[in-house]
Amino acid sequence: MSENSKIEWTDHTFNPWEGCQKVGPGCDHCYAETRNARFAGGTAINWGPGALRRRTSPANWRRPLQWNKAHAEFFAQHGRRQRVFCASLADVFDNAVDPAWRRDLFDLIELTPNLIWLLLTKRIGNVFEMVARARSHDWLAGRDNVWLGATIVSQAEADRDIPKLLKVPARVRFLSMEPLLGPVQLDQFHPTREPVLPPLIEGVDWVIVGGESGHGARPINPAWARSLRDQCAAAGVRFLFKQWGEWMPADADDCDPGIGNRRLMWSDGVAYSEQDGQRAAALMAHVGKKAAGRLLDGRTHDQFPRGGV
Ligand code: SF4
Repeated sequence: MSENSKIEWTDHTFNPWEGCQKVGPGCDHCYAETRNARFAGGTAINWGPGALRRRTSPANWRRPLQWNKAHAEFFAQHGRRQRVFCASLADVFDNAVDPAWRRDLFDLIELTPNLIWLLLTKRIGNVFEMVARARSHDWLAGRDNVWLGATIVSQAEADRDIPKLLKVPARVRFLSMEPLLGPVQLDQFHPTREPVLPPLIEGVDWVIVGGESGHGARPINPAWARSLRDQCAAAGVRFLFKQWGEWMPADADDCDPGIGNRRLMWSDGVAYSEQDGQRAAALMAHVGKKAAGRLLDGRTHDQFPRGGV
């Protein structure tokens, strides 16, 4: 479905700048850092606390304007606006970025109402202040072409970061739970939260779940994905299962784990051994992202936010 991006939930990716710094376990195998190092002769020159971020070229910044112009043709074919994932090689709300660049990005978002901008961040705690400083605190509430997302990979991040996401008055809020590294309960009160607060899932419009891909990828447990699918269904929240990643359930109908040929690992990261007996973890086979695909219990889950056209 993607025209300029291989990511299942977007049509385009746009990087206003490049460079970042790891901020949590979801960043452990950051593809963007590896890529930055590859293009700079082995060292990720735009990575880390003191490293300069690299603004992309004016020609690159003109691309969203061209996509915006091509709206009528795209809409006639797909019945919706084009989606743009902003900053796959950086983080829009990185505090090492010149605030003037972020203001320029917000100008671009205002100039392209025919695009839906997906601003996904691992720094959701910075958003309220940065938006307020660049525009006004309720700027996102008035923009129907921005979906604001937080990356959440564990229960600890859910408890810490979803309240920050919910504090920002955006029209559409979503979670990207990739790489999912543990079970997450969104629909119940959590002991670390005030009991008077509603469950975390209230106020979230869309949840994306995926396993990790790339070198060193950690396996997802299918039970974690199923639980989130079911929590979303019960709460009326839209759900998209993006991918298994490098590992898929070894007992899936379409998986031939080929014990002895393929690498097997328990979903809690323990290497497979025939002596393991009945472990609580699921047995996963390393088949590669493409072969693992994106069927969960035999079907795709491809929902998008309601009214998000
Ligand atoms: S926030 Fe994203 S781009 Fe930045 S280090 Fe983490 S994974 Fe990489």
